[in-house]
Amino acid sequence: MALLKKKDPITKFYDVIIVGSGLAGMTAANKLAKDGRSVLLLEAHNKLGGFATWFRRPTNEGERHIFDISLHGFPVGMIKTCRRYWSKDIADCIERVDKIRFINPQFEIDTDFTKEDYINIMVEKFKLDREYVVGFFNELRAMNFYDDEAMTNGQLFEKYFPGRNDVVRFLLEPIAYANGSTLEDEAITFGIVFSNFMNKGAYIFRGGTDKLIGMMKDELLANGVDIKLHAKVDEILVEDNVAKGVRIGEEKVLSKSVLSNSALYNTIFKMTPNANYSEKFAKEAKAVRVNSSSCQVFMGLKEGESI
Ligand SMILES: Cc1cc2nc3c(=O)[nH]c(=O)nc-3n(C[C@H](O)[C@H](O)[C@H](O)COP(=O)(O)OP(=O)(O)OC[C@H]3O[C@@H](n4cnc5c(N)ncnc54)[C@H](O)[C@@H]3O)c2cc1C
Repeated sequence: MALLKKKDPITKFYDVIIVGSGLAGMTAANKLAKDGRSVLLLEAHNKLGGFATWFRRPTNEGERHIFDISLHGFPVGMIKTCRRYWSKDIADCIERVDKIRFINPQFEIDTDFTKEDYINIMVEKFKLDREYVVGFFNELRAMNFYDDEAMTNGQLFEKYFPGRNDVVRFLLEPIAYANGSTLEDEAITFGIVFSNFMNKGAYIFRGGTDKLIGMMKDELLANGVDIKLHAKVDEILVEDNVAKGVRIGEEKVLSKSVLSNSALYNTIFKMTPNANYSEKFAKEAKAVRVNSSSCQVFMGLKEGESI
């Protein structure tokens, strides 16, 4: 177990090399190490976490605010996931957000972000028919990834709440923030994520993303994972359609298997030039549409200040 230095050559043969230390890469590394595999986790950046990251800004008082870039809210399922793949200590830091506030030119609403509260708000504040609202939630609940459902978000909203841009905003905006869903996307991209939140509200990690990633790093090292930062994998070495290791610049590291947590296009079309993907597979991979981007403004409040 070690945090390898930038210049340390890697000579060991691993059971698994994991490319990228996003939440998925770290979780896979931890699970495989706990199952007894020798694991090397390689990360191009200078810290672990991928999008689960943060930045610091000085305050006038000479202190530093830490701003979390992502993980401002996730569904209750994260507690179970962390207990299962990480530790009780990590899972115990997850807590519910009692109140979420939406302020925009169309409405100002406080909600605990549960189905019951949403239904009441949609009936009382937006003056919608309860039967329609309940029908909408039932349709979302019935969605699953196995059906080839072509309905778009726009069509779904038009079916239940025609012409109600304010209702669409109330429903879609928090999820558009989380996963980039637009009106043109398939309704399932909104429906499943929204239903997961509506189940029991939104949760956060007490102490912030830096603490979460710090605890995960400690856990990885304790479970025997070797970690190397500043290690951008240029190629996944493939022979006879079997992954044999990776190349970082001139350096080759060998392993029984490789798991890529790098982006889909990167992995398939850049990092594996010697893999003989079938035409069908390559075509389907090219057809995957990457999420649209969104923009955030971060504001730091002094102790005792409020908005
Ligand atoms: C602004 C923003 C807000 C978000 N808010 C929320 C939220 O509130 N709730 C929520 O649940 N989710 C949120 N998310 C989504 C969540 O952060 C991501 O889904 C999750 O962190 C993605 O993890 P990942 O492991 O899939 O990939 P990534 O985080 O993309 O990790 C990939 C890692 O691989 C590394 N890598 C890539 N290529 C290579 C290579 N060739 N060699 C070595 N390393 C490589 C990258 O540097 C990176 O560290 C948000 C995302 C963003 C951007």
